[in-house]
Amino acid sequence: MPFYHIWTIGCQMNKADSQRIASYLEKIGYQASPKAEEAEIIVLNSCVVRQSAEDRVINKLGSLKSLKRRQNPILALTGCLVDSRVDDLRRRLPQVDLFFKPQAFFELCRFLEERGLALERLDSGLVPPSPRPSAFVPIIQGCNKFCTYCIVPYRRGRERSRPLEEIICEVEELASRGVREVTLLGQNVDSYGHDLPEKPDLAAILGELSRVDGLARIRFLTSHPKDMGQRLLEAMAQLEKVCEHLSIPIQAGDDDILRAMRRGYTVAQYRQLIERIRSAIPDIALSTDVIVGFPGEREEQFQRSYDLLGELRFDTVHVACYSPRPGTIASRRLTDDVPYEEKVRRREMIEHLQEGIVTEINAQLLGSTVEVLVENRKNEKWWGRTRTDKLVFFEDEADRLGQLVKVRIEKTSPWSLQGKVE
Ligand code: SF4
Repeated sequence: MPFYHIWTIGCQMNKADSQRIASYLEKIGYQASPKAEEAEIIVLNSCVVRQSAEDRVINKLGSLKSLKRRQNPILALTGCLVDSRVDDLRRRLPQVDLFFKPQAFFELCRFLEERGLALERLDSGLVPPSPRPSAFVPIIQGCNKFCTYCIVPYRRGRERSRPLEEIICEVEELASRGVREVTLLGQNVDSYGHDLPEKPDLAAILGELSRVDGLARIRFLTSHPKDMGQRLLEAMAQLEKVCEHLSIPIQAGDDDILRAMRRGYTVAQYRQLIERIRSAIPDIALSTDVIVGFPGEREEQFQRSYDLLGELRFDTVHVACYSPRPGTIASRRLTDDVPYEEKVRRREMIEHLQEGIVTEINAQLLGSTVEVLVENRKNEKWWGRTRTDKLVFFEDEADRLGQLVKVRIEKTSPWSLQGKVE
């Protein structure tokens, strides 16, 4: 069987798209390879959210030039680098055979079929292959928010929700193949359904999926602080399969910076939301995203972000240095005036703060028993995640893949937990 190779960077949405592309390629007769050198079809799934991500894609494409000359594999590029200016990309990247926008899988199908490269007929939908017991399921694409720094609405387009029935069918099929956990994906999952005739919402999906046999856990990301409603919190509190974990980006802890970012909430509103979440679901683990060095961010404004993170004590903080993305409102109207070294200093301060916080949070789990969904094995140890998305390692002779296992925690660190099966 000939091989395909997929290289993916960026968000979970890209990973979900790559799972679907892999599913398609396997259905038409190819098998996965970790090595580009042995593949007949190579797909790069790109990200341009930050300049560093875009640079990695361009470097990767450069490194594939000689392979393309020697062996002439089909080279396809998708993800957020592919926008409406495909002619420009074609000129810049002549080694690429096919450019297709995120989710426009049909273009890849058509391209391969026209060249006789679809070795077998595709006779069913693109439910991703599931070598693992957990799977990503996109529920809404695009974003209508237009935060001033963000390129997503330009590259992924406006919000488009998938029909509720389609999502239920996909999750039922995944569960029938052994998937125990699904993560529902969207740039803004809280706005799911507003563009559908029946106007279902995320709480409705959670209710429906809770009835799927075999499925043990449901997660979703990413939430927007402005859109997260009480109905969703009530569903999370009531539905047993919905995990106690939320990803809810704050981005900045200063009202003027939040306004310049057009996030649509104040620090006080965000703080109240976190209080509501924690009172509805007391054991919840919270993740957030922060940008440092946004145009005009003064030291005291950064300090407010720093202090807020110290006060709210998240389980995970993803911190990024601001980088202007061409076409966004911030890149057109604001000056990127915080020096790079200063951005890095601010990022490292937050990383250091967070390491201390999560060390303390995880230490509280010492001696407790947690439920782990076992996802894989590494260095003689099984690993999986708790309902609160903590990474847990444990040793066991038995085959534990895909099982929900009770593990007693014996060692903690900021990054993972270790324990013994009970
Ligand atoms: S909510 Fe803002 S940051 Fe998130 S994807 Fe939409 S525009 Fe980008």
